[in-house]
Amino acid sequence: MPAVILDGNKIAGEIRAEVAAAVKSMATAGIEPVLAVVLVGHNPASEIYVRGKVRSSEELGIRSEKHTPPENISTDDLLRLITDLNRREEVDGILVQLPLPPQVDAKKILRAVDPAKDVDGFHPVNVGFLSTQQPGLVPCTPAGIMEILKRSRIPIAGQEAVVVGRSDIVGKPTAMLLLNANATITICHSKTRDLPAVCRRADILVAAIGRAGMVTREFVKPGATVIDVGMNQVTDRAEFERLFAGNAKREETFRTRGSTLIGDVHPEVAEVAGAITPVPGGVGPMTIAMLMANTVRAAKLRRGRESAA
Ligand code: NAP
Repeated sequence: MPAVILDGNKIAGEIRAEVAAAVKSMATAGIEPVLAVVLVGHNPASEIYVRGKVRSSEELGIRSEKHTPPENISTDDLLRLITDLNRREEVDGILVQLPLPPQVDAKKILRAVDPAKDVDGFHPVNVGFLSTQQPGLVPCTPAGIMEILKRSRIPIAGQEAVVVGRSDIVGKPTAMLLLNANATITICHSKTRDLPAVCRRADILVAAIGRAGMVTREFVKPGATVIDVGMNQVTDRAEFERLFAGNAKREETFRTRGSTLIGDVHPEVAEVAGAITPVPGGVGPMTIAMLMANTVRAAKLRRGRESAA
């Protein structure tokens, strides 16, 4: 039986509706959440992401402001901007779009963001809150993964969860959230021995690797839930054939655009998994939805209107 498709667009739509309702009720109390987005230079992918975040804020009634310092900004000058945003009472969320140019000390910048306004959840204080199960702001993509699982009623407690990838922004916080939800977790990376065998233990398999279609059928226990975080552009014809041979819709996209988007999971996995997130339309749309939810949450936490995680 083919896997159930976990529709990220639909779940993200539900969350956006909930955020819009929360913003409306905050407005009656005279509160308007404000998100400040910092975009350094002109990285085309970053510009697209930031445009999406600003548009999404506007749609949900969150006021956003965009700060666009030049590509050659120094760490100190960027720190001054962050300090100013930290100081401004009306700013609830600060998002520094990554990657930053090489001359900027990115870790120093992320550490400078007020943890109460850290809507990306990357500040060490929020990382600590997550690992000690205290109220804080949780990174958006991992939080989105948990919403997909919970709203799709996928059991988590007591399940074997394997996360492939140990980045600070996806792999590690996802593993921590799954652990906090009482899964038994294994974190894999490029040095893991016999990765397919380790992955086959998983009831819940999360792939956050950044390698097109690497997770094939042999990595997946029949019936497992597979969460595909990867976002990879395939431009090579031979690679395309390995992944999408016989898929007329993808063939059309590839022919007209010269590329197509794929996750870290091979399409053949849909034949063995019990449930799977598609790419596009799975984890991707959840990330911006959770950023919006985090901004509202920051606005509430800062005003003492929410205390529990
Ligand atoms: P990253 O920082 O590059 O981390 C990749 C991880 O994968 C590393 O831990 C690496 O191991 C591991 N890895 C690489 N090759 C491997 C292999 N052959 N076998 C086992 N593990 C391997 O990437 P990231 O930022 O976490 O992102 C991962 C993917 O998610 C990317 O495709 C990214 O575009 C996508 N992403 C999507 C969203 C979304 O909204 N959908 C958000 C963020 C990221 P080592 O640590 O040993 O190097």
